[in-house]
Amino acid sequence: MNHRERFEAGLAREPADRPAIMYQHLGAAKHVLAAAGLTMREGFHDPETFARIAMMGQRITGFDNVMAGWGDVLVEARAHGMQWVFPERDFYPRAKKYVEMTPSNLDKIVPVDPMKDEYWSVPLKAAKLMMDRVGREVEVLGSMVTPMGIVGEMVGMENLLMATMSDPGIVEQLLGTVVESLKTYGEHISRFGISTIYVEDAAELSLSSPENIERYQLASLKKAVSSFHSHDIKVITHNCAANPYLDGYIGIGADAVTFHVTAVDLEKTMAMFRGHVAVMAGIDQTVLLFNGTEKEIQTEVDRIFNVWGDSPGLMFTTGCEMAFKTPMENIIAFREAVARHGTSLD
Ligand SMILES: [Zn+2]
Repeated sequence: MNHRERFEAGLAREPADRPAIMYQHLGAAKHVLAAAGLTMREGFHDPETFARIAMMGQRITGFDNVMAGWGDVLVEARAHGMQWVFPERDFYPRAKKYVEMTPSNLDKIVPVDPMKDEYWSVPLKAAKLMMDRVGREVEVLGSMVTPMGIVGEMVGMENLLMATMSDPGIVEQLLGTVVESLKTYGEHISRFGISTIYVEDAAELSLSSPENIERYQLASLKKAVSSFHSHDIKVITHNCAANPYLDGYIGIGADAVTFHVTAVDLEKTMAMFRGHVAVMAGIDQTVLLFNGTEKEIQTEVDRIFNVWGDSPGLMFTTGCEMAFKTPMENIIAFREAVARHGTSLD
């Protein structure tokens, strides 16, 4: 099986030679950028550079996909009016100014065609480049932030959460606008022949009640998911929250879920999803993968296999984007620990 066949077998919950491993965003960026001889800053401005960096991430890790989106989580919010600034060192931009929630400002926020936005168009065009160059062998993933996350980065998360209580109409309006932009994103992705989109969702129980998460976050995401499904695009929902709300993902039609295995009761969580959606077990990337030994990584992978059992539909990933300086030998140890449970050693 090649990388793409393995990844798609996992998503379809069919048998594979070994579970696929998903690479997220620009994990272990230090090694990837050094190997590519390029900077993140250049990648934000130029699709060709973005694609070369993203493909290098796959080549040096040996994981099974490339992802057309990095972990800055701001590119969609910026396209809807928020302002960002690049830091001095070569790293992700950060928020400089949120959109103030005054009626005249809010009226100016309208759906965006990602292809026409200065920055959002870059990973999107890179997605097409990657699809054309490696898409037959490697899974190419579209990437987006959940509508509630985009609006949170547009107006500030605290302001947004207050508005859910004081002015639900405005919240619904903003979410609706963003969902329209995401539908257009999905249309472009579909035209490129890409069949999977990764969604950074991060529904967090310490910020909201399950009722509010269902009402705003998941209801708006469901609209985007339904639109993607109408183009035969599968959806991976990613939740790396410390106290994640995962119960709603089957209901919104997610095809796969990823979460941090140490943030959940693993047996219960796997039992909830097994047979319904593919599960991408996210091993701890902050302590285990960053500081752990090869033996510890192997033990954790073995534990996850034991809890899951024999059913198809198990995939692996890291809890979230791997840290900038994650040791290369630990990334290799992770990949080999997963391969030991399969029939393929690549
Ligand atoms: Zn994450």
